[in-house]
Amino acid sequence: MQLADTRKETTLETEGLNHVAESPDLAIIDKIRRVFSKSCKRILLINPPHFPDDLLDIKIVKNSRYYNYPPYGLGLLGRNLKTKGYIYGHLDLNLELLQYIHNEENKEVIPSRIKEIWKEKINAKIKEIKPDLVGLSCMFTMSHGRIIDIADYLKQMHPGLPIIAGGVHVSNAPDLVLKEAKGIDFLSLFESDLSFCDLLDYINGKGSEDQLAQLGTLIDEEYVFLKKRHSPSVQDMDVFPEYADLPVDKYIDYGEMGNFRYWIQEGARVSSILSNRGCRAHCTFCSVANFNGKGVRARSIDSVLDEIEYLGDRYGINHITWLDDDLFFDTQRTVALFNGIVKRNLGITWDAMNGIIVSAAATHPETIDAASKSGCVAINWGVESGNTKILGQIQKPSGIKHCLKVGELMRKYPQIYSRNFLIIGFPNETLGQMLDTIKLAQEMGSDWNGIQKLTPLPNTKIYDQMIDEGLIQHGPEESDEYSFNGRYFIRETEKHRIKEKKQKLNAEEFINFFEQNLEMVPTVEQLDDIWLIMDYKLNYEKILEEENPLRLKKMHKFLWYVSNRMTKNHPLAALFLGIVHRKLGDPESAKACISTAQEYLNQSAYWQTRFKVLSLDHLLREH
Ligand code: SF4
Repeated sequence: MQLADTRKETTLETEGLNHVAESPDLAIIDKIRRVFSKSCKRILLINPPHFPDDLLDIKIVKNSRYYNYPPYGLGLLGRNLKTKGYIYGHLDLNLELLQYIHNEENKEVIPSRIKEIWKEKINAKIKEIKPDLVGLSCMFTMSHGRIIDIADYLKQMHPGLPIIAGGVHVSNAPDLVLKEAKGIDFLSLFESDLSFCDLLDYINGKGSEDQLAQLGTLIDEEYVFLKKRHSPSVQDMDVFPEYADLPVDKYIDYGEMGNFRYWIQEGARVSSILSNRGCRAHCTFCSVANFNGKGVRARSIDSVLDEIEYLGDRYGINHITWLDDDLFFDTQRTVALFNGIVKRNLGITWDAMNGIIVSAAATHPETIDAASKSGCVAINWGVESGNTKILGQIQKPSGIKHCLKVGELMRKYPQIYSRNFLIIGFPNETLGQMLDTIKLAQEMGSDWNGIQKLTPLPNTKIYDQMIDEGLIQHGPEESDEYSFNGRYFIRETEKHRIKEKKQKLNAEEFINFFEQNLEMVPTVEQLDDIWLIMDYKLNYEKILEEENPLRLKKMHKFLWYVSNRMTKNHPLAALFLGIVHRKLGDPESAKACISTAQEYLNQSAYWQTRFKVLSLDHLLREH
């Protein structure tokens, strides 16, 4: 990448550089010089709303049910920018939007205002920061449409203001993002804590083009990128985020972090933290290796403990949710980390929101013991499937025996809420194989099972496999507000809520496919009904047999949460909450719940068809 240094101090010389690029690398450098025609010292970092405007349910926002995390990656970027002397500001539009809806008393004005409010927030922040560059984060596929809107708006209002997007989704689907989001000039791919600053230094005349890495862009409508990576080393990772004026302690008041709000102490101040990056495994549906590279890099234990202490001192945080993809990597370190929390008397509780590798815990039970002693209150387990063939195909690092072992181990820690991640809809997965997943999860006996339909993410092995087999297409054509490439990415519960609204008066047929040919490979549409049957079988049906008071209390907490905070017209949750009340010796509350369930059922043809197929009507009469 040798190019004559045509820069003058902090300003790039662009004249005479409109040559036809001889290689993608040179073309990218050429474009950098054209886009950044002056120095770049002031940076605005924007976190987009996570949810499409027209899918936002005001009631759910008011119940603080949408995800709302302090933007960890942008915080790390903030830390590095500060260290290098750049002026920067954060704008978290997800928080701003949730805050606005939460505090707005006049519900009538909300739908029209939310289409404007993010623009007003951007305008105000631009006025305050006067940025030379906007960095736009996109961690989640569901923000895809939002970054297009934001980039378009910014370019319309400030045509000369360069925009660089980064984050997991952007790194997974760079070509699709650039082709749709015309306002974005460059992508800062993968972990860009260092490479983003390298680019700024280069623009400001503090280095050569040799330091440029991980940049993607369109040249003549063709996607090109710099292959070179500048990933943070273990030493580089020993920093914690600088959130500037973001109200870290308030995030939990307006949304969710992790999956365990119902189980963590009421009123807890929650934030997230990352102790290591990457994952040792290579599951074919997972994009972690694409984003973080191969293997795991762990921060020093002291740095992680310092961060927990800092969060407590500065923001009063007393519960953390780990963002790690492989939290139990390196048993010795993991145990030392958990013991460090105890030794330093940090006084926190914590949960593991990303699926823990089941085999890591099964073969080293001491990690669970240390976890429990250090304040662990909840764990998600990455089970995914109960079928050996499917587990092999998706290269899952855990087998059936590991899952059964963990199920057994977790019975010793009833204070820890144990939840499985399960996936259905793998390529060519039959109903019989899904039934194996049901059987395994039942045997494990975890407290809850979160079931998702497979979302094939670009840049994963399974995505390529499904393209080859003609199961999906690469391109934005099949995407809409709810899906990406024809596959849904929103939470299944969310999708069923939307479906229920549509079918409230006229329900489509509902089929229990497990009573049919188990060799059948269901269609994507049929997976909706299968999901609901699995949800019932794994999460509700067991309540009928349950007599253990502690487990019933756990079920009570979750079902109360579903009925009162997640959705208020869910007859299945209301019915089973009533059954739990009765088993716990509270007939009055039981009666109230059952009558609520009946009321919801009377209003919904959608639920009536499901109650009928699942033979649930008699429970309403008997309880
Ligand atoms: S274990 Fe989890 S994080 Fe690791 S590759 Fe598999 S799905 Fe991804």
